[in-house]
Amino acid sequence: MSDVLVLCYHAVSESWPAALSVTPDGLERQLGLLHRRGFRGVTLTEALSDPPSERAVAVTFDDAYRSVLELARPILDRFGMVGSVYAVTDWPGRSQPLSWAGVDQWLGGPHEGELAGMDWDELRALADDGWEVGSHTRSHPRLPELDDGALEDELAGSRRDCERGMGRSCDTLAYPYGAVDERVVEAAGRAGYRFAVTLPRGLHAPRPLHWPRVGVYHADSEWRFRLKVSPAIRSLRGSPAWAGIDGLRRRLVRR
Ligand SMILES: [Zn+2]
Repeated sequence: MSDVLVLCYHAVSESWPAALSVTPDGLERQLGLLHRRGFRGVTLTEALSDPPSERAVAVTFDDAYRSVLELARPILDRFGMVGSVYAVTDWPGRSQPLSWAGVDQWLGGPHEGELAGMDWDELRALADDGWEVGSHTRSHPRLPELDDGALEDELAGSRRDCERGMGRSCDTLAYPYGAVDERVVEAAGRAGYRFAVTLPRGLHAPRPLHWPRVGVYHADSEWRFRLKVSPAIRSLRGSPAWAGIDGLRRRLVRR
């Protein structure tokens, strides 16, 4: 049986303490572990439509930080892996730091440089080398909170932006904050996406436009990463029992 793992990263940095940033060393150890276990690194579309071998990993990066090009790409190259990048399409044409709720607190401080995003030339160069570039909407909103018109603009509009900027088709989408509901899934289908990925607490049953990813964060030690990617834990997280276990764990942690 094929084993398809979809990971979600954001930025890579030696010094940025943000939850969404991992160190180059950490990324290298994590991908090295998968490489040794026989995972081939492929694009999201390949992983979900046509996994090339028994074990495939799609390494996805949300938000299109420039650090993906500068620090992650050389590591993936060493393992013969390609990645997939999800760009917030209002940004690659601007020379401003990425900015939305969740990263805004880093503006104006010593780590502001980490919010540099890739421009279309850089994204096209990645795609020319086999990476996939998809949409992460136009402005990074919580999609379930939008009315129908704004939702269509964020989904269909960003797909058009991405195709114009990249000069190739845009078939995949990552929902900002992993926030999604049935109305959003249907709108993503109408906008023409083939695959769309989420970032849930538990790993719900996968559907092409509602595919769960395993998020990897700053605080993930090596053993935690091993747990997150272990087939047993992934299948447990995908079961109804997980919601109960996870809810209990979080209530205990809060005390
Ligand atoms: Zn994002």
